[in-house]
Amino acid sequence: MKYVVVLPDGVSDVPLKELGGKTPLEAAKHPNMDWIAREGITGWARTIPPGFAPGSDVGCMSVFGYDPRRYHTGRAPLEAAAQGIVLTDSQVAFRCNTLTVEHGVMIDHSADHIKTEDSAQLMKTVSERLGGNGVQFHAGVSYRHLAIVSSDECRVTSEELAKIECTPPHDILGKPIDGYLPKGPGSDVLRRVMQESVAILEAHPVNRRRAAGGQHAATMLWFWGQGTATALPAFQQVYGKRGACISAVDIVRGIGRLAGLEILQVPGITGYFDTNYTGKAAYALKALDDGFDFVLVHVESTDEAGHMGDAKKKVQAIEDVDRLVAGALLEGLTRRGEPFGIMVVPDHPTDTTRRTHIPEPVPFAVYATNGAKDAVAAYTESAVKGSSLRFEEGHQLMSRFLGWGQTP
Ligand SMILES: [Zn+2]
Repeated sequence: MKYVVVLPDGVSDVPLKELGGKTPLEAAKHPNMDWIAREGITGWARTIPPGFAPGSDVGCMSVFGYDPRRYHTGRAPLEAAAQGIVLTDSQVAFRCNTLTVEHGVMIDHSADHIKTEDSAQLMKTVSERLGGNGVQFHAGVSYRHLAIVSSDECRVTSEELAKIECTPPHDILGKPIDGYLPKGPGSDVLRRVMQESVAILEAHPVNRRRAAGGQHAATMLWFWGQGTATALPAFQQVYGKRGACISAVDIVRGIGRLAGLEILQVPGITGYFDTNYTGKAAYALKALDDGFDFVLVHVESTDEAGHMGDAKKKVQAIEDVDRLVAGALLEGLTRRGEPFGIMVVPDHPTDTTRRTHIPEPVPFAVYATNGAKDAVAAYTESAVKGSSLRFEEGHQLMSRFLGWGQTP
């Protein structure tokens, strides 16, 4: 038996005016996800435990089958793990965005999805000018960087540093940043670095060129999503499956890496609308041929469309994931002939009107060869309302999924 999870990030949503009162899943054509729902079982999973912020770090941890209440220390340690950064007990990892603030207002959490080459140059300068004194910068993909902060230098404990109140920048788009700068013991060091980054970035040639070309300049560093070192028990030990994972996004790769999954390197994957969807499906199928029992394929574009507030793009991303990932996987799995299980589940809903994640339960659909079937015939929020199956602890879905083919 082989198992595949398709994780379209933030795919579930609320009814949208632009779509005539439908959600993007209801407006999009996704015959392959519908097939999984029609021929299998559907239900709801609470991937964000009560009291947790609805981040992909928390939601994905649940989808991977790990209880965030037990294992989640923050988002940035997962991204650090993806980059092979090992934190000491006195270090705290922060997410550090290169983003756009204009006249004190958060304009764009991604600086127009700044190219990795551009942000690498900015981060090099930032690192030279602001690095040291307890802060180490690590440039990442596009606008997503890390800052490893030493609690000793901030004259607080790492637990206190981990508790500083920071705000995800995509949650305050269009709002003045004043009330949202880091607060609490030790936060003065972070605020100083953020403030000093403004003049350094403003004068940078990369930003001058971007502004001249009509693109958002990366005007500021922004710290958030911090946490102390984290560890997960191995997936193979917990679930008895040799697994692999495909994602362009560091948090997802980080969770995979901490869980001991093989991180498959697929060329051309971007975490955006131009990603190599076809390659993701092809590499997942190849991994099954190579002896892996389980592959998780994460796709980010659905969530990005939500953050852009662009309902049409979200519909398009859903249709692309359905055809090029879910469809290609179903075709390949059927062609292989071996019994299989496939599940579609997002990590959290993304509300496209508010351009942010929400903590409500997510719909899932599972098909397994010789598995059970319910009466739900489509993978949409309204159709899955017809299912009474609910996982209040979303992390428990994984063990059910991996046993589904055997459950009559
Ligand atoms: Zn997400």
